[in-house]
Amino acid sequence: MVKHSSILKMAGLLIFSGTLCSVSSFIVPSPIDHLSANPSLAACSLQLAASSPLAACRLQLAVLPFPPKQKPSTLRTIIIDPGHGGSDPGTHGLISKEKDITLAISLKLGRAIAEEFPDLKIVYTRTTDVMPGNTYTIRDELNARADIANKAKGDLFICIHGNSDGHTAGRYLAKRVTGYKWVGKGRRRRKRPIYESYWVTNTRIGTETYIWKADRSGFKGAAINQNDENMGENMGDSTNSAIDMTSPEAQIKAQLYEKKYFANSALFATLVQNEFVKAGRVSDGVGQRDEGIRVLQATGMPSVLIETGFLTNKEEEEYLNSEDGQNEIVRNIVDALKTYKDTLEGKNTGSGDSNSSAPAAGGGGTSRRR
Ligand SMILES: [Zn+2]
Repeated sequence: MVKHSSILKMAGLLIFSGTLCSVSSFIVPSPIDHLSANPSLAACSLQLAASSPLAACRLQLAVLPFPPKQKPSTLRTIIIDPGHGGSDPGTHGLISKEKDITLAISLKLGRAIAEEFPDLKIVYTRTTDVMPGNTYTIRDELNARADIANKAKGDLFICIHGNSDGHTAGRYLAKRVTGYKWVGKGRRRRKRPIYESYWVTNTRIGTETYIWKADRSGFKGAAINQNDENMGENMGDSTNSAIDMTSPEAQIKAQLYEKKYFANSALFATLVQNEFVKAGRVSDGVGQRDEGIRVLQATGMPSVLIETGFLTNKEEEEYLNSEDGQNEIVRNIVDALKTYKDTLEGKNTGSGDSNSSAPAAGGGGTSRRR
């Protein structure tokens, strides 16, 4: 004989699976933050409960977190994360260090967002030249950034960086083969290349916005579960804190959020790149890095890493250091945020600027720090 508690458990799982099917179908193509506003979600749960032999358990099931209450969520807290800091300088340009540029742009970005959206709360991971969280190693520093973001219950994480093409800034020495010479005698005689050194000007320029790589998203699920209070709030369910976060139910919930966060991250990243293109910048588009980006994986919220330009290119470094350049980058990100916010709130009428295209898989494949 099957125990009543087992029936309850099975029915709960059935409802969660049903929710998964109905929610994932609208989350992926249309990354809108209205999980709780989906009518098919409640309908699916009710249908499952009524048509199954477990209908008797329907009343008791009402105490489970699904279906969530109607509570459309929107942007409330933005985390701004200036890359590097303190003893971690990031990339070196000819006239500047990455940590200083990322801080200058981030502070301007915070001020511009506060002006444009006075209701939004802005949390910085650092506002001075330090490693966030009084840390001393890059690994701890990255964890501290994610912790600050998760504790602040951020709804969007914006990480600001400057790029390097892997060579020294400005120009670098390269070697090429100009001919061959014979060396050695007898059986040891062999051909050796003759090299010539020459200067190569560092021409790589442009912007790129990263989201976390999909096959690494298990980490994101863990972060979402850690951030369980936030998840419960977003689900519109204040009783959620009583749930065991290692349970199958919690894991299914984390998967739902992972999909939504991925879609929203891709949407915001695409909007940012669209604005850069409109401003005449070179765009490498939206990428997913092959190497893990700890800070993106560890935040339980949609998150992007914006490479604002190459410090290794002389002209682009000058642009990144200039007031006009920094203001333009900030304006581009704020404009993208406006479209993103409108889309989440269902205000976007689809003017064409907000088209979300799938991020390029695999990333650019060039060497970058993070
Ligand atoms: Zn960087």
